Amino acid sequence: MNDFSATFRPELFSRTALETYDLLVIGGGITGAGIALDAAARGLKTVLVEKEDFASGTSSRSTKLIHGGLRYLKQLELALVKEVGTERAIVYRNAPHVVRPERMLLPIVRGGSLGKTLSSIGLWIYDVLAGVPADERRKMLDARQTSVEEPMLRRDILLGGGLYYEYRTDDARLTIEILKTAVEKGALALNHAEVTALNYDTAGQICGATVLDRFSGTSHEIRAKFTVNAAGPWVDGVRRLDVKAPDSLRPRKRLHLTKGIHLVVPRQRLPLRQSAYFDVLADKRMVFAIPRGQVTYLGTTDTDYRGDIERPMATWADVDYVLAAANEMFPTAGLKRADVVSSWAGLRPLIHEEGKSPSELSRKDEIFLSSTGLLSIAGGKLTGYRKMAERIVDRVCRNLGVKADCPTARMPLSGGAFADPSQMRRFLEQRIGEARQIELPPAAVADWFDKYGSNVDVLIERAFAWKRACADTPELLRKTEVWYAVEHEMAATLNDYLIRRTGRLYFDRPALGGYYPLVAQDFADLLGWDPERSKREMEAFRQEYEAVLSFGE
Ligand code: FAD
Repeated sequence: MNDFSATFRPELFSRTALETYDLLVIGGGITGAGIALDAAARGLKTVLVEKEDFASGTSSRSTKLIHGGLRYLKQLELALVKEVGTERAIVYRNAPHVVRPERMLLPIVRGGSLGKTLSSIGLWIYDVLAGVPADERRKMLDARQTSVEEPMLRRDILLGGGLYYEYRTDDARLTIEILKTAVEKGALALNHAEVTALNYDTAGQICGATVLDRFSGTSHEIRAKFTVNAAGPWVDGVRRLDVKAPDSLRPRKRLHLTKGIHLVVPRQRLPLRQSAYFDVLADKRMVFAIPRGQVTYLGTTDTDYRGDIERPMATWADVDYVLAAANEMFPTAGLKRADVVSSWAGLRPLIHEEGKSPSELSRKDEIFLSSTGLLSIAGGKLTGYRKMAERIVDRVCRNLGVKADCPTARMPLSGGAFADPSQMRRFLEQRIGEARQIELPPAAVADWFDKYGSNVDVLIERAFAWKRACADTPELLRKTEVWYAVEHEMAATLNDYLIRRTGRLYFDRPALGGYYPLVAQDFADLLGWDPERSKREMEAFRQEYEAVLSFGE
């Protein structure tokens, strides 16, 4: 039985009744996933529960960069620049299939936030603090060179530019790879499993939680010696479940949610030569434009948020702000509302600081321990997930009297055990060659490799087995990938698959109209859905499909 298969969810739920876990993690975003991996790798008996799908919260709605922390340099948070720079190198080493270096152009413009000298010094300090490898160090350009690098940039205010490297990822895929590794190390991870109550022992300490299986409607008691709340924007909501803690309703520190949105436009509408990080002249913020496959995505915003946490939505004002920012810097693009082909909106779970605006709030993580033993963690970034996990699991180990050092710095994530980029290239070329025997297109194998790394072998093996049974190559590719997501990545709904496992709703939406009913049939075959369930799932996906192009006032 595969412990990360949607087929076995009922059995996996039943298994929880037999155990008392060392650690229960609430929340399957990148923070919870990182904690589960670290804990399981140190030998703690670990279970993670996620109320919707893994990475369905903020961890699929970010800018999808493993930052070196250039932004923190502006705020003089030097220690943070150093830490995220070091972490960036570690995440890249451990998961090179889902984390890739991305050349980034920083145009320097009249009226922008940094002049030529400050940009040059800033990027140099960044190289040193973040420990940037020699071939990725910053290169400063004059105005002419900058225009050559990016002909779409407006020239009248251009003073020069800097080239440097960020690392691009797919946030949801990174989260899934961390969880797959955690499960390989012995953790149990359940999606669509919501903590509805915290349970207490006779001394008033938390000893586990009541968890609702959102599919069957049944509740399960999970016993655990320690419980960590890694619920991102829902951290305060989970703290309110801690009814025996005196300050659960009015905690000393609380979350401050800010919303950020991204827009996706067809690549040919903004055909940049590389990614860019550019000024918004009106408010001195900065925005990214990142080409990816056939699209370019743009973002982000940073505004206070007090709406529905479950479904943050971009407004027309957000859309106009981002389009205006892009048009200001790349005027020939003339982007319009009608060019937007997809979008997403996410909430930053930051720690409230009195009197500070959204952009001024620190991105540092903080840990709170309640008198009943609930350990909550909030703040932070994708980039720092491993270090956050280390800090939490160190505390858990101290409390449990376990002596074990954090082993994750040199632990490849599932699919990512490669010595260097040339080994990755050789591996991919070989697999493309093998797959030719069954007529799989090289581009499709490369796409699988970008998502699944060396686990592409599992997909290719399955494709060989199913070749004869499928009518054509598109069907073979579709059925194989859906099978992998269900059997090896616990995809249990169409949304799990089309949003988090493959990112297709964001990056390939126009192709999905006729495609998702076919995927629904594949799910029905694998998971035994009856027509009623298939209908519900298709409706749930259709709502998301519409929502990415519905903007609030
Ligand atoms: P989440 O991903 O939200 O996970 C929390 C999970 O807990 C959710 O899935 C939720 O469903 C679950 N949960 C809640 N309540 C319960 C319950 N009762 N029972 C069970 N489960 C529950 N960082 C970077 O490093 N690089 C970037 O480029 C970047 N860009 C960003 C851009 C934007 C617009 C935003 C908003 C953030 C960005 N970040 C970036 C920050 C980063 O995305 C977040 O710090 C990170 O994803 C937070 O992860 P998390 O696991 O703490 O929260």
